[in-house]
Amino acid sequence: MNPILRVTHLTKTFGGLNAVDDVSFDLEAETITALIGPNGAGKSTFFNLLGGGITANNGSVIFDGVDITKLPQHKRIRAGIGRTFQIAATFASMTVSENVRTALHAANKPTSDIYSLLSIVGLTDQADRRIPELSYGDVKCVELAMALAARPRFLLLDEPTAGMAASARTEIIERVVQIAKERQMTVLFTEHDMDAVFGYASRILVMDQGRLIADGTPEDIRQNPLVQSVYLGDEDMSHA
Ligand code: ADP
Ligand code: MG
Repeated sequence: MNPILRVTHLTKTFGGLNAVDDVSFDLEAETITALIGPNGAGKSTFFNLLGGGITANNGSVIFDGVDITKLPQHKRIRAGIGRTFQIAATFASMTVSENVRTALHAANKPTSDIYSLLSIVGLTDQADRRIPELSYGDVKCVELAMALAARPRFLLLDEPTAGMAASARTEIIERVVQIAKERQMTVLFTEHDMDAVFGYASRILVMDQGRLIADGTPEDIRQNPLVQSVYLGDEDMSHA
């Protein structure tokens, strides 16, 4: 195994609540892994710990051999970690291409890359539209293009298809998988759409109440009784 990421005893506490509770695992480079778990399991908090939006109370994150546990967000982006948020984070007053230009500029990348990024995410024909004029799915695609602008080696996607129609969901996940292959990118994503999780991830991590309760192939996870009990009565998992 060639781990690009090594998480050890990572813990984040809010008041008395362990939102992320002693999570440890390695992630192999150039793989696609899904992180799943019921609402409130700690997935977004965990992503924020990796992206640098918040600081861990305990534990460490080693990225590509470097301890990034205490690095601020902008330094993590420079180190090669890209991310999108569960709530799309774009500049509403700007057009699609201006948003992508801003992201390229912030990453010190040539702004001539705008149109190739827009074409990767399928937004070439929306380039001059302002964000509020777009569908929610297209806003998420703008966010993806912005995350890709810095040419991350490791991409974190927190519910990249939230709020999208089923058809658009598969499309964006397929795009991400394609780009990941082309760019030798490692991807960790959270997703409620179990078709996307079981169809595209080669490994699935399951969180519940802050803890990592299962880790394995889609087949392992599908058959795991603990996972089944956590999702008991949950429609999403029952047709996985
Ligand atoms: P998920 O993304 O799996 O739905 P979250 O990471 O958003 O879960 O939340 C995990 C737990 O931490 C929840 O109980 C949530 O209410 C709590 N939490 C998340 N962020 C904060 C915060 N900034 N302050 C206090 N509690 C928080
Ligand atoms: Mg979340």
